[in-house]
Amino acid sequence: MPAHALKTVLQQLDNAAREAGRPAPRLLAVSKRQPATAVAELAQAWASVAGAQDEQAPAFGENYVQEAQAKQAALAGSGVEWHLIGHLQSNKAREAATIFDWVQTVDRLRLVDALARHRPDDRAPLNVLVQVNIDDEASKHGCTPADIDALAEAIGAQPRLALRGLMAIPAPHPDRSRRRAAFARMKALFDALGATFPQVDTLSMGMSEDFGLAIAEGATMVRIGTALFGPRRPDTEEEKRGA
Ligand SMILES: *Cc1c(COP(=O)(O)O)cnc(C)c1O
Repeated sequence: MPAHALKTVLQQLDNAAREAGRPAPRLLAVSKRQPATAVAELAQAWASVAGAQDEQAPAFGENYVQEAQAKQAALAGSGVEWHLIGHLQSNKAREAATIFDWVQTVDRLRLVDALARHRPDDRAPLNVLVQVNIDDEASKHGCTPADIDALAEAIGAQPRLALRGLMAIPAPHPDRSRRRAAFARMKALFDALGATFPQVDTLSMGMSEDFGLAIAEGATMVRIGTALFGPRRPDTEEEKRGA
């Protein structure tokens, strides 16, 4: 029941924001490995709910280029915004630059160049977030905090890209205070970036399990899948290797 879950989640976002004394974050509905029918149902429900998301198009997050293409075809003309939130291999940069409105997982200079080169001229500049490996996990993608400035400068120098901010997936540490500390470190990096690049407005962090903590620490966008759609089908081996 995505429509019902949407109302609940939006209410939870509003409550968490009010408690934290912060504006409600934007919702990114993570539709990876969910059927296109569920996505269409949620997109339709979204259009009819009032609240903090009013001004914005419904936004969906996908991890894989091919899966996103199939869903975009099924939802053509629905006015939905598409975000890539999965790791992007350089050889898929052309497709990603063509089909997404946002890429949240830029973590190396080579990707900046490739996305800029391939963004079609008839589309608005591609919105870009720099992904930060905030817990310095060997298994995770994302740049180090020390790399953010160089990446931001490279993105800012590309007219076909729009630097919008930072994204992170902190380690799913069972100790919630550790998770919260990671969100707080991201907020500090985000504020520092904003001092140099005033156009930066998006701090993407927080998922179904921990969006309350992320909002308390200043997330402006939360990425929520399971709480909206329920469990998804598992990754295939090919998917695990990246978009
Ligand atoms: C899958 C995914 C999410 C959503 O996770 P849920 O726990 O289902 O809310 C958010 N962000 C990224 C990068 C993801 O891959």
